[in-house]
Amino acid sequence: SGQWAKAIAILKELQEKCETPTGKLRQVVDAMTVEMHAGLASEGGSKLKMIISYVDNLPTGDEKGLFYALDLGGTNFRVLRVLLGGKEKHVIKQEFDEVSIPPHLMVGTSEALFDFIAAALAKFVATESEDVNLSSGRQRELGFTFSFPVRQSSIASGALVKWTKGFSIEDAVNLKTQKQLDKAVKHTGKLLPIRSVGQDVVGELSKALERVGLDMRVTALVNDTVGTLAGGRYSNPDVIAAVILGTGTNAAYVERAQAIPKWHGLLPKSGEMVINMEWGNFRSSHLPLTEYDQALDVESLNPGEQIFEKIISGMYLGEIVRRVLCRMAEEAAFFGDTVPPKLKIPFILRTPHMSAMHHDTSSDLKVVGSKLKDILEISNTSLKTRKVIVELCDIVATRGARLSAAGIIGILKKLGRDTVREGENQRSVIALDGGLFEHYKKFRDCMESTLNELLGEVSETVVVEHSNDGSGIGAALLAASHSQYL
Ligand code: ADP
Ligand code: MG
Repeated sequence: SGQWAKAIAILKELQEKCETPTGKLRQVVDAMTVEMHAGLASEGGSKLKMIISYVDNLPTGDEKGLFYALDLGGTNFRVLRVLLGGKEKHVIKQEFDEVSIPPHLMVGTSEALFDFIAAALAKFVATESEDVNLSSGRQRELGFTFSFPVRQSSIASGALVKWTKGFSIEDAVNLKTQKQLDKAVKHTGKLLPIRSVGQDVVGELSKALERVGLDMRVTALVNDTVGTLAGGRYSNPDVIAAVILGTGTNAAYVERAQAIPKWHGLLPKSGEMVINMEWGNFRSSHLPLTEYDQALDVESLNPGEQIFEKIISGMYLGEIVRRVLCRMAEEAAFFGDTVPPKLKIPFILRTPHMSAMHHDTSSDLKVVGSKLKDILEISNTSLKTRKVIVELCDIVATRGARLSAAGIIGILKKLGRDTVREGENQRSVIALDGGLFEHYKKFRDCMESTLNELLGEVSETVVVEHSNDGSGIGAALLAASHSQYL
């Protein structure tokens, strides 16, 4: 019928707009390296912030003692306790707990969020067993993995640049206190930032820890990509970069300190510096963007920002699919005469649902059928309708996966590791983590095959390694190497 043809036309149009042929990916790769150079050249020189992490030494394996880590990322946060045994023994014991963040705290005040985190951490610390005890009188130390853009001022301090991934925290109470503080500032001449953006996140966490009566010092503040890089390097010395594909997406890599013109400090002894790219904010005219992406962006909490992230990461893929389905329902009566009301609810279709539908191998696509019924309250879908939905998932996931591969090649190219060099036998290992990479098999497979496609023969020297919760261990390792007791 005409309606069916219209639905197919919408699908085909999407497919064309999302296409990422090799040539286009190469343009994205080049744009990525250009922006990397610009971001390293000057502060604000690029959409890529290329944040200096103050990590100029990655773990060696000598780290020893009991350390904590806290990972605040997207929907969950994890608390981790690691007993490090130094050379040969490495990680002796490792325990963790995962707590989901109540949605109201993601849009509430930073104080409430940090209080919640501190309380959960205190509860976890209380479960510390005798055999992992600290030497007496020693303060517990924590590596804080904070997966939002932070302008670092040292290894253990940094100001929040902005919230991303659905967090929108504005402190109403603090805005009031800000006025009182402004007065105080006039008297004391001290600057006391209070709103969460611009605020030192370690200071905020430390205050919350004090409020719950937990004596613990934050000795390292690291982005999750930096933590993953540290954790990855600990288990494999060839790790040169880390990429997160989870709720959001980001990457970090080891840069030569000499190649960072905006760094005016002393050159580190190692000659190296870990850079947190904040690549989620990458954008380029070469990115294949559609009307659905534009609408999603405009209606998001951070319009105009995190464009790369909005077409790649787990927070958004399912939502893009929902938007396309919505248009099919409205303009092509894809689900019958009326538009299913649930389909109009933003973010109702999560990426794990999309992934489950995409991987459905049953002959009647019964997973697709049951997801539609359970999540969107759409029943009695025909097989051909379900097939279109699988195809739709494939288009959206493929674009994201191929673009993430292009991002990785961008890093390799910046480091001169995208070509085979005469007489050199360098291996480049990329540590990958995040729920999207871990659980969305078709996404991961597509990303890996795209890497091979773009690398050709060089692909033999490039390895993608899943670093399971490497960021937590990495943060604990960095807490250890920056311990006050060294
Ligand atoms: P975060 O990025 O919040 O730190 P994770 O790395 O655990 O946390 O990633 C969680 C994200 O991974 C979810 O928001 C979701 O988008 C994605 N994800 C989780 N499970 C699946 C799945 N089965 N299929 C596809 N994506 C998934
Ligand atoms: Mg994470």
